[in-house]
Amino acid sequence: SNSFPQKRIALFGSTGSIGTQALEVIAANPDKFTAEVLTAHSNDELLVRQALQFHPNIVVIGDDKKYAKVKAALAATDVKVFAGEQALEEVAAMDCYDMMLAAIVGFAGLRPTLKALEIGKAIALANKETLVVAGDIVMQKAVEHRAPVIPVDSEHSAIFQCLVGETRNRIEKIVLTASGGPFLGKKPNYLVNVKRDHALQHPNWNMGAKITIDSATLMNKGLEMIEAKWLFNLKPEQIEVLVHPQSIIHSMVMFEDGSIKAQMGLPDMKLPIQYAMAFPGRIPNDFPRYDFRKPSQLSFEEPDVKTFRNLTLATDALFKGGNLPCVLNAANEIAVYAFLRNRIGFLDMTDLIEKTMEAIPFIEHPTLEEYFESDAEARNFAASAIKL
Ligand code: NAD
Ligand code: MG
Repeated sequence: SNSFPQKRIALFGSTGSIGTQALEVIAANPDKFTAEVLTAHSNDELLVRQALQFHPNIVVIGDDKKYAKVKAALAATDVKVFAGEQALEEVAAMDCYDMMLAAIVGFAGLRPTLKALEIGKAIALANKETLVVAGDIVMQKAVEHRAPVIPVDSEHSAIFQCLVGETRNRIEKIVLTASGGPFLGKKPNYLVNVKRDHALQHPNWNMGAKITIDSATLMNKGLEMIEAKWLFNLKPEQIEVLVHPQSIIHSMVMFEDGSIKAQMGLPDMKLPIQYAMAFPGRIPNDFPRYDFRKPSQLSFEEPDVKTFRNLTLATDALFKGGNLPCVLNAANEIAVYAFLRNRIGFLDMTDLIEKTMEAIPFIEHPTLEEYFESDAEARNFAASAIKL
């Protein structure tokens, strides 16, 4: 059944965990999707393999030093090759695709996504940092240019799915579920000695390095609270976090009458990815199904915010708003990359973010330029605090 025309997808961050899973979805549904644009930061070899398989119109390699290599490898094709940070924005602004999959990691995803919104492109949003940094401006642009923003993050996809058909009904609150990460139940005396390789092992999801560390520190859930605020136009008080180690309930919405809707399924990012790409339709697949008859237990507990203080810092940023979430995000990116390079310890990440949040001047209603400045100031402060 082919009820809608082929959708041309621009995959920004095609070589990452989300990007490669999105390409699996495209490969499984060639009548529904084409990969029109592929972009990679530095993995030129994978980018070239993807281009040879999917025949996109355009590829972008972030690292300009690799331009010649990519160009040569694709010389026998008619794939257009661009390089450099600027090219990401230029290609995002081209009217050659229907939907952008925003799957670049971190602050780097913000500018291309803004460009896509400015020409009214639909966004399948994996890059939560975009909304954490400048959610007010991003959502304002989306409204202004009538560009739909469909979440890919599994929790937000769950809430989005629960809200279909409920546009007129007020939300009382949402409950974001958290797996708790690999260190659920651990205390600071344990966490102080945690090393990179241990933190990179997540029980339920196989993801990029940055979000895996964010999941271990619970910063991921903090970023997701801020992401939810902007996506669903919520007050901070309406957003709750609940630890649910099995990751079967992906999140829940409680309405004014006390009725709760949850979206459930086995944890597999391909499901929210394909939902966002196919929305408002659903497409069949052969992914494994959750089976209620198999012995299993769904359990819930409060997050340990005394131990995982990143969640407290993010909640603080959520409530205070302004440039504070942007500063939190920048400091966190510096902290995570320092931890990944074994430069600082697991608990040092939190101290660094807290110090940075205290140091950078608060701006209540930042312009886009001020967001960029706050990001740069926070990065500089955090990097010099750990002498990077
Ligand atoms: P990843 O590290 O696996 O991939 C990141 C992608 O972004 C790669 O294609 C890389 O080439 C590109 N990239 C990295 N730095 C860049 C830069 N400076 N400029 C341009 N491109 C750059 O990350 P991921 O796990 O796929 O996550 C991508 C985004 O999706 C993140 O924002 C993450 O929070 C979000 N997300 C991921 C998952 C998941 O399961 N992986 C789930 C929910 C949300
Ligand atoms: Mg998530």
